[in-house]
Amino acid sequence: MSKDIKIVSVIGVGYLGKQIAEQTALKSYTVRLYDTNKEDLEKFSRKLERRKRVKNISGEITSHSNIQDAVKDTDLIIEAVPEKLELKREIFKLIDKIAPPHAIIATNSSSIPVSNLEDAVERKDKVLNIHFYNVITMPMADIQRGTKTSDDTFEKGKNWVESIEITPLIVKKECYGFVFNRVWRAIKKECLKIWAGGYADLEEVDKAWRIFTGMSIGPFQFMDQIGLDVVYDIEMSYYKNSQNPDDIPPEALKKLVDVGQLGRKSGKGFYNY
Ligand code: NAD
Repeated sequence: MSKDIKIVSVIGVGYLGKQIAEQTALKSYTVRLYDTNKEDLEKFSRKLERRKRVKNISGEITSHSNIQDAVKDTDLIIEAVPEKLELKREIFKLIDKIAPPHAIIATNSSSIPVSNLEDAVERKDKVLNIHFYNVITMPMADIQRGTKTSDDTFEKGKNWVESIEITPLIVKKECYGFVFNRVWRAIKKECLKIWAGGYADLEEVDKAWRIFTGMSIGPFQFMDQIGLDVVYDIEMSYYKNSQNPDDIPPEALKKLVDVGQLGRKSGKGFYNY
């Protein structure tokens, strides 16, 4: 266990927030949860109670109906709300006002550097990007500083990541997409162009990827796992940063999102489930 961090709050307990919370509790940390979707949060809490016995989860996990209670005595906050810059800025600002002064605020954003959020808080030396991938199948996390993040904050964040048995990927110089997400983003962007441009069926692309890499799933299957709304928001975030029209995600992806084909979570995305 980290010597500096004992209590971790997860704000936004969706696809990734749930994984981060469970992994953290599995490593004996006290975990506090807050999400605006109370029904889903309660469902997750009940599921965790059942899994606690099976998986030997030793950390105490509590769900909170207001964000104040979820962060009032915490050491580290992981923000994992949707990939919307303004929303993340609002959450950072609010947390900064109500969390203990020593607490570190980290964002799990897939693309946004924490330097784009740091002016929303007073504690500019205590902010970080800690970007997880799928916690079970890809146990690694990018760690990136803001412009004023202290060495102490960076070390504490890195040590905590290691303590929950996730491999830290150190970003030396700030960039959109960090270390590996930048690589994944290039793959994803080209795959979407091949599909939307009608150059090949997505099944062909996935098949090629599986043969080439030996992985069990291809990029379109992976995007279905992530959630197509999340993928769309991330691609838009890259575009908003670059302002390069080539970065605008295909209209065909937006159409899937608009009709509710969000991937596995909705039963239909690029594939049917
Ligand atoms: P998600 O939509 O599954 O979960 C987001 C959660 O945030 C939802 O449960 C929602 O109810 C909650 N929420 C919305 N507004 C809130 C608020 N104001 N306060 C508290 N909770 C609020 O999304 P996700 O896939 O878990 O992604 C969350 C973040 O993690 C994004 O920044 C995304 O880029 C990043 N991320 C996602 C993945 C992935 O594979 N999906 C991987 C790495 C990082």
